[in-house]
Amino acid sequence: MLITGIKGINDILPDDVGKWQWVESVARRIFSNFGFQEIRIPLLEKTELFARSIGESTDIVEKEMYTFPDRNGQLLTLRPEATASVVRAFIQHRLHLNPTMRKFYTIGPMFRHERPQKGRYRQFHQINAEVFAMDDPMVDAEVIYMLLVFLEELNIPDVTLHINSMGCPDCRQPFRKSLTEYLGRVSDKLCSDCQRRRLTNPLRIFDCKVEPCKQLVREAPVLLDYLCNDCLSNFEGVKEHLTSLGIGYTIDPHMVRGLDYYNRTTFEALTPHLGAQNAVGGGGRYDGLMETLGGPDLPATGFAIGMERLILLLDEKIEIEKDSNRLFLACLGNECQKRGFQFAQQLRLRNIFVEMDYESRSLKAQMRRADKLGATHVLILGDDELAKGVATLRNMETSVQEDIPLEGIVEELLQRLRSAM
Ligand code: ATP
Ligand code: MG
Repeated sequence: MLITGIKGINDILPDDVGKWQWVESVARRIFSNFGFQEIRIPLLEKTELFARSIGESTDIVEKEMYTFPDRNGQLLTLRPEATASVVRAFIQHRLHLNPTMRKFYTIGPMFRHERPQKGRYRQFHQINAEVFAMDDPMVDAEVIYMLLVFLEELNIPDVTLHINSMGCPDCRQPFRKSLTEYLGRVSDKLCSDCQRRRLTNPLRIFDCKVEPCKQLVREAPVLLDYLCNDCLSNFEGVKEHLTSLGIGYTIDPHMVRGLDYYNRTTFEALTPHLGAQNAVGGGGRYDGLMETLGGPDLPATGFAIGMERLILLLDEKIEIEKDSNRLFLACLGNECQKRGFQFAQQLRLRNIFVEMDYESRSLKAQMRRADKLGATHVLILGDDELAKGVATLRNMETSVQEDIPLEGIVEELLQRLRSAM
């Protein structure tokens, strides 16, 4: 029986990898201009890290995590998101003591056991950015700005920004009361999950994907109407800075993110081009998380971008640059192949793309392969040439061929290929 990969867990084949590398390199360049440094965190963590941070009654923790006991019986989870791990690492390595460690980004796979469909997978990749120990609304605006600059640089079309405020524990208290009252009145119309959520974590009902619940949520009281003065002026500050940066936004009082730890400003970048999977990225402030996880009481904000969705949205026309100097060695006969084999290694050591044929096929077959590989030049090495002490260099674009002496050929090729770049 053929062993295939796991449903919803995909391979990224070489033909597509260029796009991924490009997206990653743009992220690295832009994020680093904004003062972000890369942090690499593990794929596996203790389950309690996610249970405690994301929230026990969220979909992610209740239904989507890949959790298993290891051989010592320790419960582990394949990370469903990155923020909890970045916070854990920050606390564990006492990075708050180092004032140069405030802004982090990380890129890598996440795991959620969801129903696979376009734009939704069980292993997917995120680019995450997190900022610690800064709570000025300017920081929220700047993080959102960075997200949009990044999407713009990738030419992702028709992105809209939705923002909301999740308030603070002070404003959530009275809001929760009136939401619970409302949900009590409509409880017989809620799905079975929301019946339960109504009592455990009513805010989660805003995240329900079941149609009748979505309808009911539209008429529910919203947190935005219950913000305390501090949260209100904070939200005003964020909006003001967004406007000063020329960013348009829609206030969406019904947007709650799928994780419990958010407070104050949350946001999502949406696209109309991916059907139901309309969020390219999202994030927000999570000021309480550091302390919840046993660290210092420091504010934080950040976002995550889904890379698969970005790749789906990339313009088909984008040309991913390949190395512009690509040499193919077409060697005819044993002796020539041995010489070519050596040239190839020497040129590769000098940073030139070289590919050759190892099977002594006909010149025609070798030229076909050179073409497929996108070779800009082919060096033809045959017995006749060898006898004359030369090799023939063919420029694949112009079809011009000329003989080059074997003596000093590596230096000569280097010069020609580099100047052709
Ligand atoms: P959604 O509402 O689409 O489920 P989410 O709120 O669960 O998204 P986050 O946890 O905020 O998503 O993750 C940030 C981004 O990661 C999303 O905006 C999306 O682009 C991407 N993402 C989330 N889940 C998946 C998935 N299962 N497959 C592919 N991308 C995903
Ligand atoms: Mg989700």
